[in-house]
Amino acid sequence: MEYQKILDTIHDEMSYRDVSGKVASYIPELAKVDRRKFGMHVYCGDNQHFNFGESKEKFSIQSISKVFTLAMGMRLMGEDLWDRVDVEPSGDPFNSLTQLEYESGIPRNPFINAGALVISDILVDQLKDPKQELLDFVREITGDDDIHYDKTVAASEQATGYRNVALVNYIKALGNIKCDVQPIVDFYFHQCSLAMSCEQLSKAFMLFANRGRLLETDKKILKPKTVKRINALMQTCGFYDEAGEFSFQVGLPGKSGVGGGIVAIHPENYSVAVWSPILNEKGNSELGMKALERLTTLTGVSVF
Ligand code: GLN
Repeated sequence: MEYQKILDTIHDEMSYRDVSGKVASYIPELAKVDRRKFGMHVYCGDNQHFNFGESKEKFSIQSISKVFTLAMGMRLMGEDLWDRVDVEPSGDPFNSLTQLEYESGIPRNPFINAGALVISDILVDQLKDPKQELLDFVREITGDDDIHYDKTVAASEQATGYRNVALVNYIKALGNIKCDVQPIVDFYFHQCSLAMSCEQLSKAFMLFANRGRLLETDKKILKPKTVKRINALMQTCGFYDEAGEFSFQVGLPGKSGVGGGIVAIHPENYSVAVWSPILNEKGNSELGMKALERLTTLTGVSVF
């Protein structure tokens, strides 16, 4: 497969793009990002990789981090985790406070904020130093120690994250949060502030394309069953109330973040990350979705 040629075609097709759309602004620090940024990186199972644009530039991965914390949560709790979080698409925006009241505070899935905050509670409760352990995990699966939290982004979200604080309080009132509110949101705002490039993200997500094993050493990090569950959740819940549209357009399990990043995988085959900060009305990267639609159309490789 001539991936580089296909990526160059996508880059050319999108070179005269409209950059007038909106970037995320409810986290003040994210509003400062240059809206013209555009990069894509594909990592293949045979360790070859291809890219265009700003694929080595780091950006705020935001909700993409929910896949990493879910993997850590499953390593700690196995199938018991599903007593705390459900596995159904919500059809609601990422930061919705609905659908909790009648479910005893059980969020619909781990990829909406409510679900990710319950996972944060689990990690804060069970790990000695959750922030360091998350960094260690992401660095190990990426094979790259140059991955850090962006403290300015974390502080910016802490200063304005009333909705997330409200969610934790609400779920705690319903009985599905154990720890104190502040350490949970502090961990959550830090995980969202992780700064990574498309190159690093596509490498990290090879874990989910490679049955839970590291590509170079074949070291087992996650059970194949865990990977199956996480990939299924990315397929059905990775894009909030646009999960159906992403499946329909792209046909891969994936996860987006309001920083404008999207990661998607093809089991056994490849992992791809794309970044363009302009978001559509559902909070997913507009150009990122288009670029991924072109990738699976031009390669003819999707899970469907
Ligand atoms: N940190 C963001 C929030 O909680 C993440 C949202 C996202 O990327 N969809 O609001």
